[in-house]
Amino acid sequence: MSDAARTPVRPAEPAAFDVETMRREFPVLARRVHGHPLAYLDNGASSQAPRRVIEAVDDYARSHHANVHRGVHTLSEEATARYEGARDRVARWLNAASRTEIVFTRGTTEAVNLVAQSYARPQLRAGDEVLITHLEHHANIVPWQMVCEQTGAKLVVAPIDERGELDPDAVEALMGPRTRVFACAHVSNALGTVLPVERLVASARARGIATLVDGAQAVPHGAVDVRALGCDFYAFSGHKMYAPTGIGALYGRESMLERMPPWQGGGDMILTVSFERTTYNALPYKFEAGTPNIVGAVGLGAAIDFLGSIDLRGAHAHEAALLEHAHAALAPIPGLRLIGTARRKLGLVSFVVDGVHPHDLGTVLDQDGIAIRTGHHCAMPVMDFFGIPATARASFAFYNTFDEIDRLAVSVERARRLFGGDVG
Ligand SMILES: *Cc1c(COP(=O)(O)O)cnc(C)c1O
Repeated sequence: MSDAARTPVRPAEPAAFDVETMRREFPVLARRVHGHPLAYLDNGASSQAPRRVIEAVDDYARSHHANVHRGVHTLSEEATARYEGARDRVARWLNAASRTEIVFTRGTTEAVNLVAQSYARPQLRAGDEVLITHLEHHANIVPWQMVCEQTGAKLVVAPIDERGELDPDAVEALMGPRTRVFACAHVSNALGTVLPVERLVASARARGIATLVDGAQAVPHGAVDVRALGCDFYAFSGHKMYAPTGIGALYGRESMLERMPPWQGGGDMILTVSFERTTYNALPYKFEAGTPNIVGAVGLGAAIDFLGSIDLRGAHAHEAALLEHAHAALAPIPGLRLIGTARRKLGLVSFVVDGVHPHDLGTVLDQDGIAIRTGHHCAMPVMDFFGIPATARASFAFYNTFDEIDRLAVSVERARRLFGGDVG
């Protein structure tokens, strides 16, 4: 518990974000790990679900489950209403022009693969280029490598600097006459860098280049407006924004989705099937073959309702304060090096400690009840750039506290003494 929670009756400050009240909405945060209160600082990998999401999933399973779009019976209609209601919520949440622009996927990874295979593959010719950045998650690298292999196109990678920032001039210089697709993260999962996507998307569009933004780390930390951004595609995952795993969405500009062929074949994506010819269903169903993750969509819809019901501005201000506090708390630790010091940063700190392998660090922290991520964070090229195999990453949600970050710093110092000897 933070000191603030122990202080009796303070005058209400409407502007202040009440983290202790927020924490009570997330049942798992009350548990203990190895005898310590859980400090969950691995939100960049997957965030925890609030009661509202858990209850929506439970209610669906108890009372409404059936397959969607097929039956005329009551349960099927209720399931369909909930599934399609979730699509409406995603469309509003991203400010899409229409609900038909929202395709449910398993998550960001599947969304990027869909665009690579359905949009890029039919378009790309040998010698064409796909431009990405050095900061990408493997989910926004490998699908493009695969489609380049399939078509003879070339993968071009925009460089980053020592801060983990991207120079927009350098990216624009790589947008050439053969560039067909520009794909980049909105926020880097390895470093927290906020990329200048507004400018880069506008530059790409002005050159007739299709744009995809990987929003997996952005959607949990702020409002995203795909129309203001102007991108053709935007991908995100539910489980990083307080919803269940196995559900996410692809936003696609309608004019783009219309021209794209289906990606997978099966039920729900068809209008008519004969052995001679199959005609495809309308958007977005053309891209949703087979029985979808109905319960996941219900949970995602509930997560959006939850986010719509809280003081989001206060929540995001609290997250920014947590990040600042984490930098201040970790910086004095001898031998600790922050990896990623971009001026615009969100949600996480990546670091290494001299003489302590990130994996050992993670193990010591776990003994103290602190959950962080250690490894390459599915961004091996970023690790290569900094000449390290791995980092420790603490990533924040609005339910984290300053107290948890202080515990992180104490525990890192303990690990340093255990493994790092007298370094520093
Ligand atoms: C987590 C993540 C992904 C992959 O998301 P999945 O939910 O595993 O599909 C892609 N990009 C970024 C930036 C991520 O953080």
